[in-house]
Amino acid sequence: MTDAETLADRLASGELRLYELDDHTDAETAAAARRLYVERETGADLATVGEYAFDAGEADSNIENMIGGAQIPMGVAGPVEIDGSGADGEFFLPLATTEGALLASVNRGLSAIQDSGGATARVTDSGMTRAPVFQVAGVAEAEAVIEWVDDNTDRLREAAESTTSHGELLEIDPYVVGDNVFLRFIYDTKDAMGMNMATIATREASEVIEAETPARLVALSGNLCSDKKPAAINAIEGRGRSVTADAVIDRGLVEERLNTTPEAMAEGNTRKNLIGSAKAASLGFNAHAANTVAAAFLATGQDAAQVVEGANAITTMEAREDGLYASISFASLEVGTVGGGTSLDTQSEALDVLGLGGGGDPAGANADGLAEVIATGALAGELSLVAAFCSRHLSSAHEELGR
Ligand code: NAP
Repeated sequence: MTDAETLADRLASGELRLYELDDHTDAETAAAARRLYVERETGADLATVGEYAFDAGEADSNIENMIGGAQIPMGVAGPVEIDGSGADGEFFLPLATTEGALLASVNRGLSAIQDSGGATARVTDSGMTRAPVFQVAGVAEAEAVIEWVDDNTDRLREAAESTTSHGELLEIDPYVVGDNVFLRFIYDTKDAMGMNMATIATREASEVIEAETPARLVALSGNLCSDKKPAAINAIEGRGRSVTADAVIDRGLVEERLNTTPEAMAEGNTRKNLIGSAKAASLGFNAHAANTVAAAFLATGQDAAQVVEGANAITTMEAREDGLYASISFASLEVGTVGGGTSLDTQSEALDVLGLGGGGDPAGANADGLAEVIATGALAGELSLVAAFCSRHLSSAHEELGR
């Protein structure tokens, strides 16, 4: 086997390209050679990047041109009791972030939730989407193609599901724009986030459509899916898991732990998260849901780019006699407990902290549980941040009142 030094020399001479190293040596040596080459070319010291703990060979479906690992501090918040459909019991939430104060914020909110009896969470809808775009002659042909798809959904389902032992095609939603037909395929992908699964299944079904109708497939993803881009369709129709977490925080705890009142929290939430977001034409009507989503995604091996869809959440707060009712509803939280980055070492350990690693029983229950835990963590973050704004107002009001 060729050593890293020799391979780095061959990279420098142009004899080998970065991606060709895996054909000449094992994954660890290939990474070491690339690191050495990049160090020589840039003058950077990559000693720490080379101190990774996972098996490079097993990461080959997660990364190309690997040089090592990026490390992010991981903390834990909780425990919190969750009454959920997939998450039922007490949970510590692992979060990976470089933002100081995030864990403290989520932890403060979780402790208020916990001491008020815990949170309730439910996945209310589930479906991963892929929407190919087809070209047709015009609107009359578009109508005929859609009619054919409608009449032959079972046949398309059979084709799509022939590519997976877990995925199920739920429905196909058609959209027409001039001579473009978009078919938004929606799948139950069980415990997988499902983007690869849905793409492969949709390719199979699209081939049948192309063979049987005049429609010509232009792109397997026609952006109406819509993946990794801010899009109202996800906020309205949902994508991945639509999940809500709620809790009633005791009035005394709002006052003692969050230093404010249910009335001030409800007002703050309305003016900031609802009115402010409406005025900004935001898709997310929340304070910082993406903070918890991003940290949970990084800790548990989710696709980080899908934090975009994970920001489509609405936070509500309502003062009640016994305290503060608070909820957060995510329209499109795209999570999985199998596939993607979930089997990398630190990520699968983080899923083990939740007891939600791997396939659920029944299939889909673990990913439902993960969505419910993340939603509860995000609810805690919302409580804490809205309280921080409100308590400042409260303290200045106290000053004005001379108390
Ligand atoms: P995947 O890693 O491609 O596949 C996961 C596989 O796990 C499934 O296909 C399924 O096999 C199997 N599986 C075993 N137990 C399962 C269970 N209980 N529930 C569901 N599946 C189970 O994962 P993916 O979730 O489909 O795709 C995620 C990956 O796609 C991420 O790496 C992400 O970054 C990437 N991605 C891809 C695209 C794209 O357009 N292709 C876009 C965005 C992101 P069977 O299908 O045989 O049942």
